[in-house]
Amino acid sequence: AVWNLGSVNADQVYRLPRPLEPGETMTADAFQRGLGGKGANMSVALARAGSVVHHIGAVGADGTWMRDRLAGYGVGVAHLVERGETSGHAIILLDTEGENRIVIWPAANHLIETGDLAAALGTAAPGDWVLCQNETNLQADFAHKAKARGLRVAYAAAPFDVEAAQAMLPHADLLVLNEVEAAQLETATGLSPEALPVAHVVVTLGARGCRWFDTVSGVSRDFPAPRVTVTDTTGAGDTFTGYLVGALDQGAGMGDALALALKAGAVMVTRLGTADVIPTRDEVEKFFLS
Ligand code: ADP
Repeated sequence: AVWNLGSVNADQVYRLPRPLEPGETMTADAFQRGLGGKGANMSVALARAGSVVHHIGAVGADGTWMRDRLAGYGVGVAHLVERGETSGHAIILLDTEGENRIVIWPAANHLIETGDLAAALGTAAPGDWVLCQNETNLQADFAHKAKARGLRVAYAAAPFDVEAAQAMLPHADLLVLNEVEAAQLETATGLSPEALPVAHVVVTLGARGCRWFDTVSGVSRDFPAPRVTVTDTTGAGDTFTGYLVGALDQGAGMGDALALALKAGAVMVTRLGTADVIPTRDEVEKFFLS
């Protein structure tokens, strides 16, 4: 099983005819509300990949629909608690050039308590994976406790935060980050991916696929991404990470797990939306048969 400590956000997406200017008020020409947050996206991807996944986190009193939706996708929500009035949310402004501008308010995502972590890890089995990102509080505490129980720790260092990353690295067995985050981490710490104190580092490279650094043996390997027509890259990285950790949890080797994650990420960029449109494993396999 995979124990994912992560954010759950209500994404409010407004499509605008053009970017907003300071002081300007504009009526959007389309609106959509959906389930998002890096944590929730990864939990859905894990479930879609066929893994048993338990989501650890918090929503507010207004978050029942998100809890229900996660459960509907097959994500275990026994450790997704209700705390405070307001759930985490994101206001996403899309303009016609495909650029987006995003405001996030963490709300309940930052109200996770140490007792919540202990309750979840109390039922985890040695050899299970835990996963975390930077949109909650207590990630390093969670990773530290998980390691002590013999679990394996995967960490997506997004959105990038140098203090959060430095606290997490000593506990991580697998680090996933995009090219921008890898550069930010190198600037902040002076360490390139192959020099990080983490056994497996995966740097995602968008349409160019990814590079896997096995820092123990000092070998790196490039994996190309399948070529697809891009509609919307939102959630592609989260889908990639969920599928990667899911495949590893199901016993795949790193090479096979990365190949599957790249296929899932590629299918995801052909779709508009986030958690609600993450492809199932069947859809991923079928996509590349046609
Ligand atoms: P992020 O979306 O987190 O910024 P990337 O842009 O590196 O990170 O994308 C993450 C992963 O999503 C890639 O490794 C790849 O698997 C998939 N992906 C993103 N863009 C494309 C694309 N144009 N074609 C195919 N796969 C893509």
